[in-house]
Amino acid sequence: MNIAITAHDKKKEVMVQFCIAYKGILEKHCLCATGTTGGLVADVTGLEVHRFLSGSQGGDQQIGARIAYNEIDLVLFFRDPLTAQPHEPDVNTLLRLCDLHNIPLATNLATAEVLVRGLDRGDLDWREIVNPKK
Ligand code: PGA
Repeated sequence: MNIAITAHDKKKEVMVQFCIAYKGILEKHCLCATGTTGGLVADVTGLEVHRFLSGSQGGDQQIGARIAYNEIDLVLFFRDPLTAQPHEPDVNTLLRLCDLHNIPLATNLATAEVLVRGLDRGDLDWREIVNPKK
């Protein structure tokens, strides 16, 4: 499955910890991420992560475009609800595209754990029908 990862600055540490904890599951899938988040996760965990631009530079939009093309199966987006983001419209667009295209989305650690465990159990296998491997 193709998993997109992104985290606002104050949530990057928890994202890295999450990826360490679930490395055994995540390494079975294709990971992509916004620039800074992806770099941190790759450096700390050794996971292979395709990096897009930083979120504030269009990285959220790059992930959104891939959602629109049906190329993303799961989004883990740890948002900071207490800090205004200069690229808030891009953030909202990404969330909207997940809802529009029915893509599983976690915006916090608790939900991400449920989704990643579910992914490993096969709960998201229906995505392989919607998004078959070429
Ligand atoms: P970043 O982008 O991973 O490049 O920091 C995420 C964001 O802050 O939107």
